[in-house]
Amino acid sequence: MSFQNPVFIPGPTNMPEAIRKACDMPTIDHRSPLFGQILHPARAGVQEILKSETAEIFIFPSTGTGGWETALTNTLSAGDTVLAARNGMFSHRWIDMCLRHELNVKIVETPWGHGLPADRYEEILKADTAHQIKVVLATHNETATGVKSDIAAVRKALDAANHPALLFVDGVSSIGSMDFRFDEWGVDVAVTGSQKGFMLPAGLAIVGFSQKALDASKTAQLPRTFFDIADMTKGYAANAYPYTPAVGLMNGLLLATETLLKEGLDNVFARHTRIASGVRAAVDAWGLELCAATPDVYSDTVSAIKTPEGFNATDIVTHAAEQYGVAFGVGLGEVSGKVFRIGHLGSMTDVMALSGIATAEMCMVDLGLDIKLGSGVAAAQEYYRSTTGLMLKSAA
Ligand SMILES: *Cc1c(COP(=O)(O)O)cnc(C)c1O
Repeated sequence: MSFQNPVFIPGPTNMPEAIRKACDMPTIDHRSPLFGQILHPARAGVQEILKSETAEIFIFPSTGTGGWETALTNTLSAGDTVLAARNGMFSHRWIDMCLRHELNVKIVETPWGHGLPADRYEEILKADTAHQIKVVLATHNETATGVKSDIAAVRKALDAANHPALLFVDGVSSIGSMDFRFDEWGVDVAVTGSQKGFMLPAGLAIVGFSQKALDASKTAQLPRTFFDIADMTKGYAANAYPYTPAVGLMNGLLLATETLLKEGLDNVFARHTRIASGVRAAVDAWGLELCAATPDVYSDTVSAIKTPEGFNATDIVTHAAEQYGVAFGVGLGEVSGKVFRIGHLGSMTDVMALSGIATAEMCMVDLGLDIKLGSGVAAAQEYYRSTTGLMLKSAA
């Protein structure tokens, strides 16, 4: 017997039935024009979702982490300097990867719960008159803390300093769910994966390169084989990969891009904002607070919710899994045990969110927290009632 509940983890996300089925296909020759009929439109769909006219899209059988590695190894050489802020587990892991590749990382320690400090970036970039910094890293949406950062402000910092460094953006938990503007923000490499906004199983690293990043790849010395974009470019010209592509996932990606674009990106973003706002109304009704410090950094794809001092937030996640068969996200790193996370991205509706809020509420009451059953659900219901129409509009 299967008790199928939606998941409320911020990836992998729930899969629409049609997209799941699109991944399940008979074997085709992956070096044939038939594969090209999947590969090229899928890349074009990703480019449109990134809001770019010109980004080169590369898709590897990997995950978001492989996307980070693609960005670094194709553009940098050992000893190069990278500027990065650490404000959560995912920015931390990208920094760690830089260090393992013998890059020199200028780390701006930033309180978890805060966004990227664009003003500090600007000061550091202005002081770097020798232009030692080759790349600026920015995590658009810190999935560990539920914090979004202002990428346009990071671009402004680079421009204000008249600095030529490349801008790399981790959009793993934002792209396809929150507004992302590759061209307008002057992004040089954007990184994402298949299992979050694209509503697919894990298994694809999806990256976009600007012309400037492609140019940097011509002189970059870091070793790369599997993630070499030059090999991939040659393959694409012949409807192929340098190795065997994940054909079924690519077919799913094609449908996922079509599905998102048919809903309309503005509708997709508005849906995520609306669902997230209902979750935040519930958190407020519970008398709890988000890890995200201020409303301007609230993420529309994941909420990290702080539990009272002395209470182990991970107990909520364990209890939800054991008692109700529902998955929430645990706190990671510095906020382990202090927060639990409700993922609300991808294939999600207000009605699904209500079931997640209701389950979180049952768990907290079961575990003795001073919360009234139904309080968060009612707050979210009021919010959703007052903002109807979006679901119908986007389905039309
Ligand atoms: C999930 C996630 C990653 C890691 O992606 P994997 O697909 O698990 O390798 C990186 N960055 C952010 C912001 C994420 O949410």
